[in-house]
This record gives sequence, C-alpha cells and structure tokens, in this order.
Amino acid sequence: SQNLQGKVAFVTGGSRSIGAAIAKRLANDGAAVAITYHGSRERAAAVVDAIKGEGGRAAAIGADAGDATAVRAAVTEAVRMFGGIDILVNNAGIALGGPIDEITDADYNRMIAVNVTGVFVATQEAVRHMKSGGRIIHIGSSMVRYAAFPTASLYTLTKGAVAGFNRSLVRDLGPRGITVNTVHPGPTDTDMNPDGGPVSKIVGPGMAIGRYGKPEEIASVVAYLSSPEAAFVTGADIVADGGFTA
Ligand code: NDP
Repeated sequence: SQNLQGKVAFVTGGSRSIGAAIAKRLANDGAAVAITYHGSRERAAAVVDAIKGEGGRAAAIGADAGDATAVRAAVTEAVRMFGGIDILVNNAGIALGGPIDEITDADYNRMIAVNVTGVFVATQEAVRHMKSGGRIIHIGSSMVRYAAFPTASLYTLTKGAVAGFNRSLVRDLGPRGITVNTVHPGPTDTDMNPDGGPVSKIVGPGMAIGRYGKPEEIASVVAYLSSPEAAFVTGADIVADGGFTA
C-alpha cells in the first residue's frame, strides 16, 4: 500500500535492526524517510540505498541520540531536506545495565541521555514542525510489563519514563490532531538481542508463539500507527511480543 504518500518520516537509530526495518517499511508505504545513526554510518547508507533502489526517498543523518544539540540539528536537517515531519519514530535505544549495585554513574548517565533525553528532544523538536495528522511513535519495551530477568533495572527505568511521557503527551498534542503511541516489542531478533544469544536462552521458553519476533513484525505495527487509519488510536501502549508478557 502507498498510504503514506506525501508524508515525511523521521526514524531515530535507523541504521540497523528494528529501526532499519521501520525505515524500509515506511518508505515502502510511500513516506520519504530520514534516519539517524551514530556508530553505523555504512549500514545507514545501505538502508538509504535499499530504499532508493525501490524507488523511495531517504536520507541518513549522523546524530548521537544522546547529544541533544545533534538531535535538534538532525530534525532541522530533515525538515530542510523533505519539507516537514509527519511521523516521528523514537527507536534509537541502548541497553547498558547490570546488577543494581554495580551500575556505574557513566552508564546511568548515558542510558538517560540516549533512551530518555534523546526521545524528549526529538519529540519536542519534531512537533514544532508537525501539522494535523502527525504521528509520534515511541519504541518502548515489553520489560515495562513483565521484567523477565535481572540486570535490566536501568533499561526498564528508561522505558518506563518513555511510557509515562507518552501518556501525558497525548493531552498536549491531541487538540492538534497528532497521535502519540508506544510500541512495546518483546524479544525480537536483532543485534541487541539476537535469537540464540544469551537473553534468548532465558526468554525463549516464555514466547507463547514459540519463537522470537522479527524486526519487520515491529515495523508493521509502526506502519499501522503511522497510517491515516489509526487516527483514533492515541495514548496506547501496544505490546508486540509473541505473547511473552501475556
Ligand atoms: P540494536 O542495538 O540492534 O540497534 C540499535 C539501533 O539504534 C541502531 O540502528 C543504532 O545505530 C541505533 N542507536 C543506538 N544508539 C544510538 C545513538 N546514541 N544515537 C543514534 N542511534 C543510536 O537494537 P534493536 O533494534 O534491538 O532495538 C531498537 C529499539 O527497540 C530500542 O529502543 C530497544 O530498546 C527496543 N527494544 C528491542 C527489543 C529486542 O528484543 N530487540 C525488545 C524491546 C525493545 P548505530 O549503530 O548507528 O549507533
């Protein structure tokens, strides 16, 4: 379908994994897509090339999600390139952590900078450019619903902050015709959480559908929330987790 024709999407952390799948899906649905990256410049370029190869419009912008100035500049750059922002997907995230009494101040500060401040700043800057019909979609985590294993308290703290931000933001943006929703993925096969990796040994048996999620299966939920069809869905926490937290 081409139901995002004429729309501009901004996807943070679009160089790999779930963010790359989201970027490709929204482009396939007709949106021009700006992705940000931090460490993976070449993979970001490959995502852009793949989209252009399919006849889409895309650009990659280097911007550390933990650097508020860089995030604001990236939003401004995307607006300059594509003429606005209609869909913001706050996907960039990291998972530093460990046992509660061993987490360092440096890791704590980095987690807050990337997973919380990055989301806040991208949202604030993007809504300054967003018109009626706009969409904000955060990528949270099913860990806010079911904390399946230890060492993830800091990660879950950051995702809980995003879920709370989401809930209250609907009141600011609803009157402007902008929806705000969070997709909470369960275990999904990515670089962060590879199927067959250490986390999968623990959570694998808990997957109701008997397998890990695929990045494309998170992207399809984001595509729905991005679409004109989803205009009545705002403030929602949509869990896409193969029944892991059911
Ligand atoms: P990956 O680690 O596989 O990929 C992370 C992506 O985010 C990369 O494109 C990376 O880009 C980007 N990124 C990371 N840090 C930064 C930064 N500082 N600035 C800009 N971009 C950054 O993660 P996933 O795809 O698995 O996760 C995506 C989102 O989904 C995250 O928010 C994560 O918390 C969430 N999630 C994932 C789950 C899973 O099981 N995989 C489950 C629940 C939630 P680059 O390499 O260029 O730095």
